[in-house]
Amino acid sequence: MTVILDGKKLRDKILEELKTRLEKYTLKPTLVVILVGDNPASRIYVNNKKKTAENLGINSIVINYPSDVPEQVLLDKIEELNSDKNVTAILVQLPLPEHIDKFKIINAISPEKDVDGFTPENSGRLFTGEEPYVYPCTPKGIIRLLDEYKIPIEGKHAVIVGRSNIVGKPLAQMLLNRNATVTICHSRTENLPDITKTADILVSAVGGKIIGINMIKSNCVVIDVGIFKDENGKTRGDVDFNTVAPLTSYITPVPGGVGPMTIAMLMSNTVELFEKNL
Ligand code: NAP
Repeated sequence: MTVILDGKKLRDKILEELKTRLEKYTLKPTLVVILVGDNPASRIYVNNKKKTAENLGINSIVINYPSDVPEQVLLDKIEELNSDKNVTAILVQLPLPEHIDKFKIINAISPEKDVDGFTPENSGRLFTGEEPYVYPCTPKGIIRLLDEYKIPIEGKHAVIVGRSNIVGKPLAQMLLNRNATVTICHSRTENLPDITKTADILVSAVGGKIIGINMIKSNCVVIDVGIFKDENGKTRGDVDFNTVAPLTSYITPVPGGVGPMTIAMLMSNTVELFEKNL
């Protein structure tokens, strides 16, 4: 029987726990989100983050810049936020416009306030085995979801399709740290179905209709990170859910799987950074 991994239910449980955890402090965390330009998807994500943070009693500030903002203006602002004792978490919403070097911007964030866990210090710590200040939200949410449903990771073959810095690469390392055997696939991978069919845990983070019934092993666990609008404007994931789900032991829906977990982990990271700073 297939179990649907309910990211919304777990998100609500986590947010409730965080709210209670914060009630014991007089001081509150302050999360600053920098948003550049007017990408509609980014705006929705940022509004969602702000609303969720405020519901928990987290101070949430969004700083909006026009898309032609000079890089130096962002660097100066980040430096100011780094040295502001009241600011406990900083997030720069990606993607950034082309004229801005995203690595330079991310590198400028103080690792102690890097709520996404994307700075070189935090990713370096993840890869060397030293504890980062926080773990990247989407991979952390996926591991949390697997743990909630007591899905074993150790010794399993995890195949990740997608090698981005925000999902595929950090997730691979986190699964490796939990003693999975990990394979990372990408757009140049040859014979992709031959590899995905060997997965005990298959994670797809592509952003296109890619995982069909011919690509999975019976009873595997499928985690669908992808989100995109199909030709009819409907939100969907990478996996052909209706045909694939019956063959799996566990599967995440889109929407309602990984997405809600990502925001829950962002809030969890905000609280962790705040507590480390007390
Ligand atoms: P990204 O940076 O665009 O990376 C996409 C990855 O997919 C790349 O590694 C690319 O390979 C690979 N890929 C593309 N076409 C492929 C193909 N035909 N076969 C195999 N691999 C292929 O994406 P991302 O930022 O990681 O996001 C991926 C998806 O997850 C998007 O839909 C995004 O919206 C979604 N997402 C969701 C959440 C959430 O909370 N639910 C969070 C983050 C991202 P190359 O490296 O070779 O180009």
